[in-house]
Amino acid sequence: VIRMSHVSKWYGHFQVLHDVSLDVRKGERVVVCGPSGSGKSTLIRCINRLEVHQSGQIFVKGLEMTDNVKNIDTIRRHIGMVFQNFNLFPHLTVLENLTLGPMLTRQMKKSAAEDLAMHFLRKVRIPEQSGKYPLQLSGGQQQRVAIARSLCMEPEIMLFDEPTSALDPEMIKEVLDTMIELAESGMTMIVVTHEMGFARTVADNVVFMADGRKVESGPPEEFFGNPREERTRAFLDQIL
Ligand code: ATP
Ligand code: MG
Repeated sequence: VIRMSHVSKWYGHFQVLHDVSLDVRKGERVVVCGPSGSGKSTLIRCINRLEVHQSGQIFVKGLEMTDNVKNIDTIRRHIGMVFQNFNLFPHLTVLENLTLGPMLTRQMKKSAAEDLAMHFLRKVRIPEQSGKYPLQLSGGQQQRVAIARSLCMEPEIMLFDEPTSALDPEMIKEVLDTMIELAESGMTMIVVTHEMGFARTVADNVVFMADGRKVESGPPEEFFGNPREERTRAFLDQIL
């Protein structure tokens, strides 16, 4: 459902992505890991064109991501994204955060949008928080609101960029549990994370990036059990 083929990207003279290719099938869960600055965020942000690649090709559901505005809109409608810092609107309640997108971009009536929002708030296990403002919630609750907000757009693919790295340890688990349930529901997911326990149990494919290159990838048993590249081993030694 996603095909990245020989993607390269530069910031000025600095090459941030080097010839990266990655295929993601429908329902597949891919975890991307690697040192800080290795290009993980840039890579997944190219998929919905929050960043623009300069060479190579990216296809989502057979449609090429180019500067064609129509393609960009269509592809973005299929993709939800969750960030490290939640990015909720502070002046809107939880419920309003969730209904805004469906009402503005999918022309849903308020009552239908609210039903949908409550459905996903129940899924992430915080329906009782619907009337609060984001800053009245814990970090873990805010991140679950952000996940529910993405799901309200009913995307086919979810991209996560270090969704737990801004959270206190006791809140990481509740967010990972939400993501595990999402994975079990069959969602196609690309997750940038250093949570290797999550990678081991949930991922179909683990990708290791370093210096803008895809160094190694494989199923978790192979990736963790028998990493081929020295750089991968050094990285795993450091974080495990
Ligand atoms: P982290 O684990 O810290 O989030 P990352 O693997 O996600 O790192 P990226 O954010 O993709 O890394 O950044 C890759 C490289 O590109 C870094 O060296 C960064 O400094 C550089 N970079 C990122 N954004 C820009 C930008 N807008 N302009 C110039 N350089 C940038
Ligand atoms: Mg990053």
